[in-house]
Amino acid sequence: MKPVCLVTFLWVVLLLLGVPPASAQWREDVQDIMGTRVHAEIWEQDPARGERLLAMVMAEMRRIEAAFSPYLESSELSLLNRQAPGGWVEISSELFDLLEKSRSVSELTGGAFDVTYASVGRYYDYRAGERPPDELLKQALEAIDYRYVELDPEHRRARYARPEVYVDLGGIAKGHAVDRAIELLLDAGVAQASVSAGGDSRILGDRRGEPWNVGVRDPRREGVMAVMLPLLDTAVSTSGDYERYFEADGVRYHHILDPATGDSARNTWSVTVLGAEATLTDALSTSVFVLGPEKGIALIDTLPGIDAIVIDAQGTLRYSADLAPLTASP
Ligand code: ADP
Ligand code: MG
Repeated sequence: MKPVCLVTFLWVVLLLLGVPPASAQWREDVQDIMGTRVHAEIWEQDPARGERLLAMVMAEMRRIEAAFSPYLESSELSLLNRQAPGGWVEISSELFDLLEKSRSVSELTGGAFDVTYASVGRYYDYRAGERPPDELLKQALEAIDYRYVELDPEHRRARYARPEVYVDLGGIAKGHAVDRAIELLLDAGVAQASVSAGGDSRILGDRRGEPWNVGVRDPRREGVMAVMLPLLDTAVSTSGDYERYFEADGVRYHHILDPATGDSARNTWSVTVLGAEATLTDALSTSVFVLGPEKGIALIDTLPGIDAIVIDAQGTLRYSADLAPLTASP
């Protein structure tokens, strides 16, 4: 029998058995969730299972948005913001865990990362081009200090030490959502996948024998990549001053605030942090953005398994020590 006949024969047998001629392929979905673009891509043979896995990822993202968005009155975070100034509030272990992780990053970064930044941050409206008047800013600044969020692990509860304290998890929640999605995919036996929520992504495995290519955007040229990174099994987070901003009198007001001043941090254009988990890379990209290139990279160099690429306010690329070989000219 000639090979072509053998192939035909096998097809006929498969069709008679009712087996669909499925082949493994990339399956993806993109949806707008958490005020950003969520993208998931997985390698899966069975189309129905592929659909189910992607739907599971998107449902998890929506669950996290519903729990931790400060813009939804019904979220657990909004409940905390309403009640914690008045005394202890019992919270879910997931929220408690995020607040604890936020606090440890605050301690690690000397307060550059601080979820109470929003005590001032809540008065900016980037879409409307509005910032708090000086007097209000000065007053609200008093309420920025991560130590004002008191945590009681024994009873899993939290309270705010001052009434004006307001918490926003925007610097860590998307990374958490990406980690949760990847955990669910791992539990389901998926070995190759990529999940991203805006600037936070995490990849699982390789791309059929090749590394995944993750680009770092040029912060001043739309659609242009400053660097391409070939990666396997890594979380990557980018924070940039181009995501949400407005300009007034030639000054750029963007969404990453220096907790010391209540004003946008301006000695960096973009920060990309690489590590094992997106929750940490997300919080650290925001942190390094606030710390600036020198202090930020010095901190990253003390953390094993974490690397960073910073584009400073002159547009110069800077790398943490482990990535320095990337900068070596050929
Ligand atoms: P995005 O992917 O939204 O651009 P980033 O990782 O760059 O996220 O973090 C920016 C977000 O972090 C802001 O939108 C705000 O919600 C929050 N944020 C801003 N400044 C701080 C800060 N100093 N500490 C913690 N969170 C912050
Ligand atoms: Mg971040």
